[in-house]
Amino acid sequence: MKLLVGVLFSFFLALPSAVARGGERGGTLSEYENDRSNVATTKARVLLEDEKSPNKIARARGYMTNSDLEKAVKDFGRRCSNISRIYSIGESVNGVPLWVIEISDKPGEEEGEPAFKYIGNVHGDEPVGRELLIRLANWICDNHLKDPLVRSIVENSHLHILPSINPDGFALQRRGNAKNIDLNRDFPDQFFPLNDDIHTRQPETAAVMKWLSEIRFTGSATLHGGALVANYPWDGTSDGRKHYYSCPDDDTFRFLASTYSQSHRNMSLSTEFPGGITNGAFWYPIYGAMQDWNYIHAGCFELTLEVSDDKWPMIDEIPTLWEHNKMSLLNLAASVLKTGVHGRIFASDSGTPLPGFITIKGINYTVNAGRAFGDYHRLLVPGERYEVMATMPGYKSKMTTISLGETAMTVDFILDPETTTKRYLWRTSGCNCGGSSSSSKFGFEMFWTLHFEVYVVIIILLFWFLIRRRLKSNLSNDKQHAARSSLLPA
Ligand SMILES: [Zn+2]
Repeated sequence: MKLLVGVLFSFFLALPSAVARGGERGGTLSEYENDRSNVATTKARVLLEDEKSPNKIARARGYMTNSDLEKAVKDFGRRCSNISRIYSIGESVNGVPLWVIEISDKPGEEEGEPAFKYIGNVHGDEPVGRELLIRLANWICDNHLKDPLVRSIVENSHLHILPSINPDGFALQRRGNAKNIDLNRDFPDQFFPLNDDIHTRQPETAAVMKWLSEIRFTGSATLHGGALVANYPWDGTSDGRKHYYSCPDDDTFRFLASTYSQSHRNMSLSTEFPGGITNGAFWYPIYGAMQDWNYIHAGCFELTLEVSDDKWPMIDEIPTLWEHNKMSLLNLAASVLKTGVHGRIFASDSGTPLPGFITIKGINYTVNAGRAFGDYHRLLVPGERYEVMATMPGYKSKMTTISLGETAMTVDFILDPETTTKRYLWRTSGCNCGGSSSSSKFGFEMFWTLHFEVYVVIIILLFWFLIRRRLKSNLSNDKQHAARSSLLPA
């Protein structure tokens, strides 16, 4: 019965999820309902439309095919090999590699630096992002020695660019992937268990999730088309209704979204979206979205960017769209360097980096420090005071108050080890180590620490018992001696 209710509820939720985030208009609920019927009509039309219809051929003219894109990525890799590496995070349903360009002065190496990612072409029929992202990579390659902002991105961060997460959808000129699944509804959802079955997850989605388990991204954005707005979490609401639904970092997300819209040629001038930004659920709620999953499960602040009113404009509009979005793309990627509090966490006894946690008083969100360098990168709105706390199991937490200016701030934490019983109890509960020798050594340490006081008491009691016994025996000897003396003749 529970299962049946779940299935029915999921079906009910899946209906609005067919609506575009990054496509059809948002706005009022009635518009949103209309969009649902529009989408249904569009779907029927797509089914009737031949993939090689003159309309589709004309639309694709001038755009990179998937083969062209692969060649562009590899050409870039050869041309800019000193600051990049090319890798694939997996394959689409039809076996197209999901190529990534990593840009950094030490590509492929782990450093104590923040990482940012751009993902384009989430929806197959929104190809502007893949064109812009190839231009972005090449522009960085051509300008990193002369442009201070670009140089800073290359030297102090790792920028990963995935131009197309949905090459099959692009080839088919449709929103979903080869199985017609909307990839921006395919992630596990925080409110409703729509996509929790790992066996039904699309390979493109699974590839992104695996990617985020391997690289600790601080910030991110996906590129869509069909509107002009920077969209931020939450995308979904707990009650399934359309209204503003803020995540714990609402202020920071508004700041990041504004960074994009204000740097854009005309996004912030929008009459539909004040300042060119919107809360996702306020626009229209969706479930299984990539940005909510990034923030919740990967510690990554992700935006959904609608970069062009026209989903699939004529190719000769791309240079203009690039000019409109260029500074936005650069400034957002640089936001992981230019804002927030950054630093490292160390152990005071050994000096080793600690993979601890950073929390901000009043914000229910935790940012993890890296395992290799103990580095953390916590994005925050500039010009505010914050109480920053570093914690690590087995160590005493430390808190400090900072006044964040207009630029990023560096704060390192040196944590002292706990020396009480509590330390050992805490470390044991957080320890996943399987090695028997270290476990037994650890167990002995804990056992000894836990029972030391008991041993001292037992030893004192033993001494007391022995002394008392000795005293008693002396006393009785004295008495016997006295008795014997009294029996002796005077
Ligand atoms: Zn989209």
